This record gives sequence, structure tokens and C-alpha cells, in this order.
Amino acid sequence: MATKVLIVEDEEQIARFVELELRHEGYSTGKAADGRTGLSMAESGEYDIVLLDIMLPELNGLEVLRRLRKTSEIPVILLTARDSVMDKVSGLDLGADDYVTKPFAIEELLARIRVAMKKKGTAAKDDAGKLVWRDLTVDPAAYSAVWDNVPIELSKREFDLLALLLTNRNIVLGRDTLLQKVCGYDYVGETNVIDVYIRYLRAKIDERFGVHMIQTVRGVGYVIKDE
Ligand code: CA
Repeated sequence: MATKVLIVEDEEQIARFVELELRHEGYSTGKAADGRTGLSMAESGEYDIVLLDIMLPELNGLEVLRRLRKTSEIPVILLTARDSVMDKVSGLDLGADDYVTKPFAIEELLARIRVAMKKKGTAAKDDAGKLVWRDLTVDPAAYSAVWDNVPIELSKREFDLLALLLTNRNIVLGRDTLLQKVCGYDYVGETNVIDVYIRYLRAKIDERFGVHMIQTVRGVGYVIKDE
């Protein structure tokens, strides 16, 4: 599967140029021209990496990054102006993986993307984009989950919830965040539905295979931690 790059940049010419170059290199791309749209696209889980301009309408890039880091470890490369040392420092403090200074050569940006993706690859995913925790292997592309070659039957929402927790391992995800991402923003059913799906997942994985994978953080939400 092609790596999906989200370009959050309000200068249409730059965004278009980067998009064409990335597609030429075999990436697939999405674009957002303001911070608010960029944040919700970045949170959607559809992208592998974000190129984030700092001076943006609606929400600036640093604020987008700050909010994004509450729920996601997706690699972020900041696009900064030449003289904004403060932006670079705060950006890295806020959890940006890297930055490039505008105007940049496309080769430099491509190199930074490759480095950031490689880092991510060794951190959480194997080469095929699968999510692995101990003997559990979850393959988002194939919608399959196996424990040491034993298939685990999961409903779509159970699967989405599990993949979300695995993608954001070591980050505590609140019930509201999980609810929005798993059930959608317009969900109007029971608010404890996430607790119910967590129970199902624990029965199908934790109890069945004798592990303590999904941890409850009382009053906050849930987390899967690295072993
Ligand atoms: Ca801008």
C-alpha cells in the first residue's frame, strides 16, 4: 500500500507542488488548507504522515500539533519559515518528528519523509503495516487479527477499537475520543458503548490468551502499553 501523506498548507501553490512531487514518487496524498480541517484529517487514521505548515488559518500548526499529540503518534514534519527558531523549538517540544525550512528543495523533504517513516516503522509497525503486540498481529489492510496463528473473530467496531489502541500504544485514549473515532461524531447511542466493546475485546484476547493487554486508566480511558 502506498504511504499516505497529509499536506496541511494554506499556500495553494506550495501545497500543489508538494502534492505533485509526492505523487510522482508513488505516495498518495490528501490536502487541507486550514488548521481545523488538517487536524480532523490527521486524526482520521487514514494517513501515515503529516506535513504541517505553521502559519495557518483557523488553528495554527503548533496548536494543531498540540491537539493531535493527545490522541496520535503519527509522524509530523513541520514546514517552518526561515527565521522562526522559536517555532522549530516549540514544534519539537510539542512532538514534531522533524522540520524543513521554507523554501525547501523537494529532495530534502522526500528524505525527511523517508526518515520519519522508517522511525515509525521500527517503533510500532512491521514493514507490512501490521500492528504487533506480543503474539498478537493485527493487519488493518486485511481486517484480520491473529494470536500466534490463532484467528480472532472481531466485529468491525471491536477491530477499529483494537487497531486504534495499538496504533496509539502508550497513549491513554479517553472514552470520548474512542467513541468519536470508533462510532463516528454523530453517534447518539449509549455512551458506555466503548466499555462494552472493551469487555468483548478482553474476553476475546486478554482472557482467552491469559494476558493483560488493555489497561483501564480510572476516570480517563484505556491504553495498551509496550511490554
Ligand atoms: Ca502558511
